[in-house]
Amino acid sequence: MSALLEIRGLTAHYGDFQALFGVDLALERGEVMAIIGANGAGKTTLMRAITGIARVSGGSVALAGRRLDRLAAPDILRAGVSMVPEGRRLFPSLTVEENLLIGAHARRGSGFWTLARLYDLFPILRERRQQPATALSGGQQQMVAIGRALMSNPDVLLCDELSLGLAPVVIREIYAAFPTIRDSGTAITVVEQDIGQALKIADHVHCMMEGRITLSGRPDTLSRDAIHNAYFGVH
Ligand code: ATP
Repeated sequence: MSALLEIRGLTAHYGDFQALFGVDLALERGEVMAIIGANGAGKTTLMRAITGIARVSGGSVALAGRRLDRLAAPDILRAGVSMVPEGRRLFPSLTVEENLLIGAHARRGSGFWTLARLYDLFPILRERRQQPATALSGGQQQMVAIGRALMSNPDVLLCDELSLGLAPVVIREIYAAFPTIRDSGTAITVVEQDIGQALKIADHVHCMMEGRITLSGRPDTLSRDAIHNAYFGVH
């Protein structure tokens, strides 16, 4: 049987500049996959190519066997791939609850995620649901961004740099929600510059450098040296 999300030979360009070179990845149901790599490795481009925001110039992306790479971004969302973008991109003048409800516009059937279940996942959001998103701390805003993405009941949740700019204790609090999300039936891909965090939460880790996957494996099988070389390159 094919993987839930299957990426084959994916390439992407910005004009003449090639940002992705034949990326192959497979995400299984119930799995958390982490993609690590330094600044500029191509991680965000990969997320944007999967979600239809960046144009794919070659290769394929399929969800449960259905090709996504020729669909427009809103159709990819409706097909079941939802993203938490880098920088969160909340609607600042809307309340927490209004931001969450925006995610429900792309809602697919009657899935697991409802406002009540999101508030159980992140109880602080229930307390602050009538406040504008900007009144929240960075970590709480990240919870809103995750909640908004979950409200479409996706098969796959893509998270871009969740930990950027957040304190370690806050990062741990956010990642503590992952087992519940995974158990709800949503497979997860996280992009992280924070290697330690990625190794802790992922079933599979892939390292990217200069638009290519340079190392893949389960966290317990990857040595520090191998990760270091794949992340920074061997000089
Ligand atoms: P970061 O951690 O900084 O987000 P990243 O691994 O996500 O890094 P990308 O943002 O995907 O990397 O960038 C990959 C390459 O593509 C980089 O060389 C970057 O300069 C280039 N790039 C990204 N966005 C654009 C764009 N809009 N136009 C031209 N080049 C771009």
